Amino acid sequence: MLRVYNTLSRTKEPFEPVDAGKVGIYLCGPTVYKPSHIGHMVGPVIFDTVKRYLAYSGYDVTLVINITDVDDKLIAESSTQGVAMEQLAARMTADYMNNMEAMGVDSVDHFPRATDNIDEIIKFTDTLLKKGFAYESEGDVYFEVSKAKDYGKLSGRPADAMRGDGGGAAKRKRASADFALWKAAKPGETAWDSPWGPGRPGWHIECSAMSRRILGETFDIHGGGLDLVFPHHENEIAQSESCHGKPMAKYWMHNGLMQASGEVGKLGGRHTRPSEGDLQSGDIQSGDIQSGDIQSGDIQSQEAGKISKSKGSSPFSELLEQFQPETIRFFLLSTHYRRPIDFSEERIRQVETGLDAFYRFFKRLQRVTGQNFCELDTPRRRDDGQIDAGDSQLLAAVVEHRNRFLESMDDDFNTGGAIGDLFDLVRRLNKFIDDEKLEEKTNRDKSKVDALTTGARTLRELSAALGLFRKPPEAMSAGDDTLTGKLLDLLVQMRTDARKNKDFATADTIRNSLAELGVTLEDRPGGTEWSIE
Ligand SMILES: [Zn+2]
Repeated sequence: MLRVYNTLSRTKEPFEPVDAGKVGIYLCGPTVYKPSHIGHMVGPVIFDTVKRYLAYSGYDVTLVINITDVDDKLIAESSTQGVAMEQLAARMTADYMNNMEAMGVDSVDHFPRATDNIDEIIKFTDTLLKKGFAYESEGDVYFEVSKAKDYGKLSGRPADAMRGDGGGAAKRKRASADFALWKAAKPGETAWDSPWGPGRPGWHIECSAMSRRILGETFDIHGGGLDLVFPHHENEIAQSESCHGKPMAKYWMHNGLMQASGEVGKLGGRHTRPSEGDLQSGDIQSGDIQSGDIQSGDIQSQEAGKISKSKGSSPFSELLEQFQPETIRFFLLSTHYRRPIDFSEERIRQVETGLDAFYRFFKRLQRVTGQNFCELDTPRRRDDGQIDAGDSQLLAAVVEHRNRFLESMDDDFNTGGAIGDLFDLVRRLNKFIDDEKLEEKTNRDKSKVDALTTGARTLRELSAALGLFRKPPEAMSAGDDTLTGKLLDLLVQMRTDARKNKDFATADTIRNSLAELGVTLEDRPGGTEWSIE
C-alpha cells in the first residue's frame, strides 16, 4: 500500500485518489525570466518519477507543470535587457524545455502558461469578488486573508506572518496580509483588459485557475518546493477553497531544495541545517536513510538554504556539458525528495562512480547473453512483473530485491532507498555471473542464461519505474555496438584464451599493443573490461 507524506497533516497517509484509478498532479513550475539552473530540475525530476511510479502501479496519471510567463521579475529583467517580456519569456521557456528533455522529464501532460489563461484567471478573480473574499482598490484586486477559513493550515503560520511590501500597494490594501489577485498596469507594462481596468494577474491566482481548468476543483497531489509552502501554496488554498468550498488538493507534497555544499558528504550522509522545525526528524525511517538525517529545517528558513552564488546556480546547460543527464537524474533521485540536496561537483562525481556499476553490468550482460539491456522486453505494470522463482536461488533473490524496491517506493517514494535496492540487485546478478563463471562460454547453459536474463529484465522494469537507463549510455553505444567494440571483445577473448593456455607472451603482446593504441584492459573477478581513453 502506497503511503504519501502530506504536508497538510504532517503524517504519511495511505494513498487513495479522489477518483479511483485516476491521479491528477499539479506542480508549480518556473517563472521564466532567466536560464534554468539545477534547482529548477529538482521538482520536475521528482514528480516525473512520482508519475512514472504511479503509472507503473496501475493509475491513469495526469501531470501538469505551469509556466509563469508574466510576473514582476520578468518585467524587471526584460526592461534590464531591453527586450519585450514575451520575447524573454519565450526564450527562457525554450531553455527550460530543452533541459527537461535532456533530463528525461517527458511524462508531463500539460504545460499551461499564465498568459494563455487570462480569461480563466479573470473569471476566478471575479467569483472571489462576488463571494466577498476579495476587494478592488484603484485597479488592483486583493484577496482578503481575514475572510479565508483555516488560513495558515498548510504552513502553520498565522496570516500576520505575511508581511506587506511596504510600498504603494500597502496603501491600497486593507490588511498587510492581503495579496494581489490582479495588478493594475503601470505605464508601458504588458496588460490585459479586465473588469477592473488594464492589468495582469498576481502569481498565486494563476495556479488556482489553471489547476482547476485542467484537473478540477479537487485533485490528488499538489507539489512544489518547500519554499513554496508559504505564502504561495497557503494562498492557493485560500483562493481555491474559498471559491469552491472544498479541498483544493488531497495530498500536498513538498520537495527539499538544492543547496550548495562546501563540505562533501557521502551519499546518505548527514546534512546539517541551521534550524529545525515543522518537519520532524522521525518522518523518514526507511531505506538507507537514517532517521536523524532529515532536518529539512523549518519551512520558513528554507529560503536561506536556496542555492545562490555558486556553481549550482550557473545555467543548467553548462552542467550538461560536464555530466551525462543520466548522472544528474541519478544524483537527484539518490536523496529522499523531502531532504535538502547538497550540490557539489564532487558529489555528482561520486554518483558517476556508482552508476558505473550498472554500466559494467550491462556490458557483461551483453557479453554473456548477447542482449542489450536497454532493449530487453519488460513489463510496464507492477502486476505483470511478478516472476516465479521456481527452484532458482538467483530468482528467489531477485524476487526479494524487487519486493524491497517496491516497499521503498511505496513508503513515500523513497527513491534513495529504491536506488540502494537496485545496487543490491546488480551486485547479486554480478555474483551469479562470477559464481557460475558465465564469462566463459563453455559454462553458459540455457537455464543459467535464462535466469540471468530474467533477473536483468526485473532490473530494467524497476529502473524504468524511476525513469533510469532508458537509453544506452554514450560510453556503451560507442563501445559494444560498434565494430570497434566487437573487435576489442574479440581481442580480449583471445588474450583470455592465451592466458588459459599459459601463453603469457601472446597475452602480454595483446595488452601492450592495445595500451599503445590508448585501450586499457582491466582484469576483474568476472572478466576483463576494456576502456578507450
Ligand atoms: Zn503554484
